[in-house]
Amino acid sequence: MIIAERKPLPEIIANVRDVDRLLIVGCNTCVAICLAGGEKEVAVLGSLLRLARNNGEGLKLGQITETCVERQCEEEFNAPLAEAIAAHDVVLSMACGVGVQTLAEQFPDAIVYPALNTISMGRPEEPGTWDERCLGCGNCVLDKFGGVCPITRCSKSLLNGPCGGSANGRCEVDPENLECAWQLIYDRLSRIGQLERLYAVEPAKDWSTSHYGGPRRTTSAKWPSQSAARSAMPSKREDMRR
Ligand code: SF4
Ligand code: SF4
Repeated sequence: MIIAERKPLPEIIANVRDVDRLLIVGCNTCVAICLAGGEKEVAVLGSLLRLARNNGEGLKLGQITETCVERQCEEEFNAPLAEAIAAHDVVLSMACGVGVQTLAEQFPDAIVYPALNTISMGRPEEPGTWDERCLGCGNCVLDKFGGVCPITRCSKSLLNGPCGGSANGRCEVDPENLECAWQLIYDRLSRIGQLERLYAVEPAKDWSTSHYGGPRRTTSAKWPSQSAARSAMPSKREDMRR
């Protein structure tokens, strides 16, 4: 899932201090699970802003409205917000960067600010801790490395074995907090009887499938009716925009 965390309050306040009517919009999917931007976090941020305003910190914020949608990265879920967005001066999105941009594209006249920093694609490691697992490189090589991603989990994204800094299973970049991905790869391939895979030389990574080839568009061939659906959408989408 997408991992995010709330921006420091002073950074958020800097954007909204002179706003009269503020709408805070959370997202109940990934960012709710990582306790950054779900319904509860929207309520907490609303309360913090009210406290700051009432404490005489020079904030205007005459009206703070809180709401949350199921999935802010999909316009259909945001459509019911049209009236509320029109009735406020600024929208503070507590979604990931995709959700923020979806609101800004869908409601082009609205001012939309992010309240979160989007961090990574990861998984819960222990309660309250999420670790990065995938960089979205566009050409997955997990089959060759026992299900451990060297691109994401090796601090240097090495594809042909460890650097000289691997010691006692830890990564030299931050031995206290990071396991050496190559130790993990070796242990895992050993365990599943595929150590011979390490004899193969992995060619230099073609990063053109990643973001470095430019923003990517993914179209599913399993969705044959997509073009028909899309051609029917513009008028509906226009209706949502204000
Ligand atoms: S190889 Fe690429 S797609 Fe696969 S987990 Fe690593 S970064 Fe993600
Ligand atoms: S110590 Fe291991 S994880 Fe760290 S950079 Fe070297 S090979 Fe990669």
